[in-house]
This record gives sequence, structure tokens and C-alpha cells, in this order.
Amino acid sequence: MKKLDQDDMKRQNRSTVFQIIKQHQPISRAAIAKQTGMSPTTVSRIIAEFSDEGYVVDMEEQASAGRGRKSTLIRLREHSVLSVGVQIDREFGMLGIVDVQGNVMTSTSFAREPGEAAETTARRIGGKLTELVEASGLDRCRLVGLGIGVPGIVNVEDGTVRLSVQLGWREVGLAGMITETTGLPVVVDNELKLKGLAEQLRGAAQGSSRTVLLGFGHGVGSALIRRGEIYRGATNSAGEIAHMMMNPQGMMCDCGNVGCLQTFITIPSLLSEARKMEPIDTFGELFEQWQSGKRWASFLLEQALVYMAMTVNNVVSMYNPDRVIVSGEMIDPYPEIYEALVDLCRTKYIWEPLRGTFSISRSDLARHGVLIGSGLVAQNVYFQLN
Ligand SMILES: [Zn+2]
Repeated sequence: MKKLDQDDMKRQNRSTVFQIIKQHQPISRAAIAKQTGMSPTTVSRIIAEFSDEGYVVDMEEQASAGRGRKSTLIRLREHSVLSVGVQIDREFGMLGIVDVQGNVMTSTSFAREPGEAAETTARRIGGKLTELVEASGLDRCRLVGLGIGVPGIVNVEDGTVRLSVQLGWREVGLAGMITETTGLPVVVDNELKLKGLAEQLRGAAQGSSRTVLLGFGHGVGSALIRRGEIYRGATNSAGEIAHMMMNPQGMMCDCGNVGCLQTFITIPSLLSEARKMEPIDTFGELFEQWQSGKRWASFLLEQALVYMAMTVNNVVSMYNPDRVIVSGEMIDPYPEIYEALVDLCRTKYIWEPLRGTFSISRSDLARHGVLIGSGLVAQNVYFQLN
């Protein structure tokens, strides 16, 4: 038992030292000891391990001010820690290689059949990763793990997708399948939670301590990130707002309740209403009909906008964030929809005492948000467990 405690502490110390180097590089051993409160001997031992493992390098000596004494500074070796970020959506997937700063070094995408089995998707990811590594010339040994974002409810402890209506998966042991096809340790999480994390660490919500990210697209959902940590709730389903009941006289929802939020504002529900008027296939076509002044299209989209503004108000009332990011397939490609939504929020739908207490913006990372979030989470898991 005692041995285990010591190992835990070693892991914790390694993780702490790594985070300090990552944030403050180049940095001296003495400064690391000072910041962490560890002894210089402990710090030197950990740095020696990192150096042997190829994660850090000593920089040329620098004269410290005044005394003429020289101290060696440490920095991370470029590309020494890399991870894979993956996003799986209904009709496509993306994967990319992410460095410790959250830069996407290279990425690729793949098509998938809606509702295809998880085993098939896992094989696609294995094949695409091999292609990507070969094409990029990066060293596969430097990949410390793989993170995946999926729409739906995920058990992050064991990497099981408990329910994803959009992917058609229920109780799928995704982490194990992807480890089999890639050979990497795998962490799975909800895509909006990862996207929110990425926006706070690297995107539009940098400097925010309480960020809410909302996603409007084929589904609707939200995530709360508090100081770099995902708020999960008891079973990692905090922020799953699609089935909040908005109107007991509303339409039937596929979950068996009536009047759920998703029956008012998701792309599939809007398209099924639109098809009563014209045979359109995509949300882009509905958007064009609205822009060209079609009355039926403006009824539909303007009602959806009202429900989106109500959603912003409801989520903001619940969480009291300092930043709100709105994103998703209905927002990212359409500045007009974003502007109309912000206007409704400002003029009408945000509860008066909360106006001005948060800023609202679009995503900075758009396409790469989930890749960055999942890649960074995979690195964190590696450095705490290794
Ligand atoms: Zn429902």
C-alpha cells in the first residue's frame, strides 16, 4: 500500500513539473523548485528523467543578472509530446495531431455512414492515423494518447459511449475498440465539453473563469468549463439540454416526451417542418430561403432563433458564466444567424439583472475545437497516469 502511495506522489510531482515547464518555459531548475515547493534534488531527478525520455532539453547557459553566475534553462523539446485528437460525428470524422500548446500540426477527415457500427469507425480511425503519421513524417513513438469527442452521453471513466442518438450507439465500449486499432491509450468524452475546454484554453474564451459553450446543429447541447475543468455533474451528463421540456403542448420528441427543446431548434426538426413546404435537403437551403424572403422560411427560422435566445437565457440563468460561446452547424457558417441571435439576447430574452454580466461570441476554433480539446485531454491523462 505504501509503495502505491509513493508511486502516486511521483506521478503527481512529474505532472506538476511538466505543467510548470509547459507554462513558463524556458525556466531554470531553481525556479521550478521555488514554484512547486519541491526540493532541488527532487526537481533535478524529475528533469533528468524527462531528459532521458526526450521530453526536455537544456538551453544554452544564460548569465543571470549582475552576479555573472550562469544558470541552465529547460524547455520542452519540440514535438516531443504529441497526441491524437478525434471527432466523430454523424456523417464524418476528423482526426489531427496536437502538440502540448494545443496546435493542430496536421489533420485529416473521413466520411462515415450515418449509423455505422463503432467497430467500422474504429477501423477507419486506425487506418487514417497510420496514413496521417506517414504523410507528416512525425515520430509515432511521440504519440502519448488519443482523445475522442462524440455527441452524446459518455462514461469518461471507462470510455463507454452510453447513448449517442446521433451516432446510433448505445453502451459502446469505444475506448477499447480504438486502442485495438491504434495501439494508443484512449480517452472518450462528450464533444461539446471538449470544445468548451479548448475554447477556454486556446480560443475565444481565454481568460474566462466560467465559460458556457452552446452547440446548435443536428443536436443541441451545452458545456460549462470552470477554470480549465469540465463540469460534469454526477454522471457526466451536465449540460445535456436537448430534452429540457419547453412546452407540454409541443411536438412529440424521439425520446418519448413532448415539447423537448430539440423539437424546436435542431436541424432535423427544422428540415422536417420545412419539407411540408418545399423538398429541401440541407440547412443551407433553408437558410437561403430565409435570406430570399420566403415567408414560411422566416416563420421557421425566426421561431428557432427565439428558442435559441431562450436557451441562452436559461443556461446563463443556471450557470452565471462570464463568457458564452455559441457554436455549431447552425452558427459557425452563418454570421447572419449569429447576429440575429445576439440581437434577440441583448434586446429581449436575457433576464435583465444578467445583461452585461457576460460576453457572448462565436467560436475561435470552429472546425478544430474538438480535436484540440480531445488531444489536450489525452496528454493530461498521460502525464497523470504515467
Ligand atoms: Zn426529448
